[in-house]
Amino acid sequence: MFEQFDLDSELLACVKELGYKKPTSIQELVIPKAMTGKDILASAPTGTGKTAAFLLPIAQHLLDYPRTKPGFPRVLILTPTRELAIQIGQDSENMTKLAKIKTGVITGGINYGSHDDILNSTTDILVATPGRLLEYIENEQFDAREVEILILDEADRMLDMGFRETINRIVGEARWRKQTMLFSATLEGAGVIRFAKEVLTEPEFLTSNPSRKEKAKIHQWLHIADDSQHKVNLLLNILKQQEVERAVVFANKRETVQYLSGKLYAEELPCVWLEGKMLQDKRNKAIERFKRGEIKVLVATDVASRGLDIDDISHVINFDLPRKVDIYIHRIGRTGRAGAKGTAISLVEAHDMPVVAKIERYQNERLPRRIIEELRPKHKEARVTSRKAKVKLTTAQKKAKAKKQTKKKLKRVNAKS
Ligand code: AMP
Repeated sequence: MFEQFDLDSELLACVKELGYKKPTSIQELVIPKAMTGKDILASAPTGTGKTAAFLLPIAQHLLDYPRTKPGFPRVLILTPTRELAIQIGQDSENMTKLAKIKTGVITGGINYGSHDDILNSTTDILVATPGRLLEYIENEQFDAREVEILILDEADRMLDMGFRETINRIVGEARWRKQTMLFSATLEGAGVIRFAKEVLTEPEFLTSNPSRKEKAKIHQWLHIADDSQHKVNLLLNILKQQEVERAVVFANKRETVQYLSGKLYAEELPCVWLEGKMLQDKRNKAIERFKRGEIKVLVATDVASRGLDIDDISHVINFDLPRKVDIYIHRIGRTGRAGAKGTAISLVEAHDMPVVAKIERYQNERLPRRIIEELRPKHKEARVTSRKAKVKLTTAQKKAKAKKQTKKKLKRVNAKS
């Protein structure tokens, strides 16, 4: 029940109107801690309700300490993409519409200067993408020194997209803030932890443990394949059979993207593809065709699809399994957005099994194996003999382990710096 939190009735009424009956696990963890004013480092994938987890404590802070004079925003939320900024802006408006709180959104991709309204009037919560905001700061149109609470949402993605320097500058500008919260899909990559150490002060580590129901939004499974050719056959079969409305097929190499696109066309499965060296114009055209739904399949590498924010992806297919768990989590997070159901299918060869074991350990759940009868693998599944891979942890053990690992990483980073 949301009543368990110390939230004003205006906020509770908005939550009710949005149809939220009970808090998700990340909300249970974050809301009470955030309301104490502590810095927060939370791992929470998209779709777990993390937006409300930070918006509600922010709104409560603004209600507890009302503004005494007009001025610049008191809360700044940085997000990697324009689409996400707009989404959070809408969520913020919905969640504060009965309170006197004003939200503004500033993003790139629209004419410089179109944000005059927001910059010149009194806004309480500003949601922004880092690049454009820094331009306004440099031109002295925006002053971040009035920011009391700073949120870094999808920090791993922002770092991944090369925003580190830009964010550091903004964080420096917002130096009088009282509280900082950093959200990341995973805390796996060392980069996020190092960054967190720079921007947070004695943070509270919170790892969401999405309930089965929350997790069930992304339906994951894998197919064992004998070799690369077998994977191609599986991919073609899946794309023809599955109810694919919009699919992203991930490959690890540029050459594979080109090879697969050729194979799909040969089977009359039109697709668009993205690869790093593509001209911007061609790249934009490909993305547009996919976004419009003209073409249902996009084949890409991780690098080429960086920063791409497309909603309503029904299927993520890992033609190649990534070598790291955090990349897997990123990839599958592209489906199952905004409460929609999503499917993530991985094609796995024997040499991928150690990564499969790591993913299963991370999610504390075995990925179901599926077989397409006419494409049954000749070889048995390669066994990963590591004892660790077989251990099934309880929820409490998993939480304790995640906390221990994060602390260990932080210690390592501390020792280095
Ligand atoms: P998010 O992870 O913040 O992008 O949220 C994912 C989806 O879950 C959004 O559509 C939210 O509106 C919805 N949502 C957030 N919190 C709750 C809740 N407590 N109960 C039901 N739906 C929720």
